[in-house]
Amino acid sequence: MTRLIFLGPPGAGKGTQAKLLAEVVNIPHISTGEILRSAVAAQTPLGQKAKAYMDKGELVPDELLLDLVRDRLSQADAQSGWILDGFPRNVSQAAFLDDLMQETHQTCTCVNLDVPDEVLVNRLLGRGRSDDTPEAIRTRLEVYRKETAPLIDFYGERSVLRVVDGDRSMAEVTNSLKQIVSEQQGQ
Ligand code: AMP
Repeated sequence: MTRLIFLGPPGAGKGTQAKLLAEVVNIPHISTGEILRSAVAAQTPLGQKAKAYMDKGELVPDELLLDLVRDRLSQADAQSGWILDGFPRNVSQAAFLDDLMQETHQTCTCVNLDVPDEVLVNRLLGRGRSDDTPEAIRTRLEVYRKETAPLIDFYGERSVLRVVDGDRSMAEVTNSLKQIVSEQQGQ
């Protein structure tokens, strides 16, 4: 069973790789950022609440996301595995997911896509998303360091962390990820 959390700074290639791998393994790619962007586009109550945070590059408050993630992971297509991209983003979200895994007697592995800072900024500036302004990028990197990077230790302490060098060609990174998936499936 493949249940993966993709961790890594903004611009590390999490979204691209998670989507690709999910297609290969045939499990859902669950991106909280994508869910939020759709909610913003559809102007739902969630989208209206989330937009200002997203535009600034700040994290959307946990209470807007936790039930959403619980519901998404309980859907039928997620029963054969999933790849979570962009969640958890802080220790309280990680603790929530930990509890959820225990409640449902499931386990998951965390993949940290490791990319040096100077590569990240160039990638982000070249992407052209509406929250990819230099200022929002700076905030997102700061938020990553302060809120999200501590999760590397959180999962390391639980011995479920795998580190993948994200500063290589897309195909090379994908191959490393496929390797991790096949090791897990062999377990
Ligand atoms: P992403 O597509 O993962 O880069 O997310 C884009 C934006 O959505 C982030 O900058 C946050 O504002 C928001 N977001 C996505 N996932 C989360 C999360 N797990 N917790 C809080 N905010 C999130």
